[in-house]
Amino acid sequence: MTKPLQNITDLTLKELQQALSVLGEPSFRATQIHQWLFSHRAATFDEMTILSLALRKKLAESFSIHPLSAVNYQECLEEGCENPTQKILLELQDGNQVESVLIASENRMTGCVSSQIGCPLQCPFCATGRMGFRRNLTAGEITGQVYALNDLVAAREPGKALTNIVFMGMGEPLLNTDNVIEAIENLTTRNYRFCLSQKRITISTVGVIPEIQRLAKSGMKTKLAVSLHSADQQKRESLMPIAARQYPLAELGKALSEYSSSTGMPVTIVYLLLRGINDSLDDAKILAKFSKTFLCKINLIDYNSINNSKFKTVYSAARELFQQYLMNAGLHVTVRKSYGTNINAACGQLATVGIQNPQ
Ligand code: SF4
Repeated sequence: MTKPLQNITDLTLKELQQALSVLGEPSFRATQIHQWLFSHRAATFDEMTILSLALRKKLAESFSIHPLSAVNYQECLEEGCENPTQKILLELQDGNQVESVLIASENRMTGCVSSQIGCPLQCPFCATGRMGFRRNLTAGEITGQVYALNDLVAAREPGKALTNIVFMGMGEPLLNTDNVIEAIENLTTRNYRFCLSQKRITISTVGVIPEIQRLAKSGMKTKLAVSLHSADQQKRESLMPIAARQYPLAELGKALSEYSSSTGMPVTIVYLLLRGINDSLDDAKILAKFSKTFLCKINLIDYNSINNSKFKTVYSAARELFQQYLMNAGLHVTVRKSYGTNINAACGQLATVGIQNPQ
């Protein structure tokens, strides 16, 4: 069997420049091709009419253009909400699959994208963690998810586009930072068609300290969300063992403090409330103490159940007391509404295992 040609959208701009130089072409050709791929979304080299016929032929002999293909699609309409949450299962060139979610609200169309296939951090409450880790997604595959979600938006409301992107899908984005940053560049470059403001993009991490430090120095304007789930080291280790041991709370607190003071931007502390585990007033007290050391806001989320899980959703009365305690301590607190729980599209529920193909 002949090996498939390399998918050109898997190359970073730098790799594209190197590949073009091997073909004896100047570097600006790589920039033009990159724009055709990620701004014009060319599906064939023949569409790149700015290139000579000879170069288009050379490219087609060495590379393919393999867009992500949608193999399943689900939607769910929450009670009292006019806009359905939509989840798509996308197939990649190597046969792996990845999930992405469109969360629609009155003023926003948010694309929730994945950064890895599976996740190496294996948090026990998370369906993605149970899949194990297969590989990082390329920048092209991350960008492709955004385009696929954007097509859903345009199909719903012609002329409309995604307004926000969150890296809260499958995987830990800061264990694939190079590709995440490259994808963000594809989506925010000024003369490209998508051209989203970096401020409308949120990177959500378990707290990969060296990469948070890297983001702080990068000058990027993206927002940072950190999944904390407990401000007690031991309890955090029981909830997210790998992440909590590798990135201890004391060092994480320092890194977040440096991040918010050097960028001037608040960090969103994401706190998943689990009934009887991290939802007491003592838990709120230590969370308040931890969060007061840097500029932040706290986002409380309810647990979205997955199969065979020992965890339970917090009682609303306990959540209200928890929230009130934090607010009384002077913290800015919001409660995140969960979208897409009925189709396993909410936080912590994404996993390609067990999804059936249509027909
Ligand atoms: S919660 Fe996030 S970091 Fe933990 S296993 Fe799931 S995807 Fe990975």
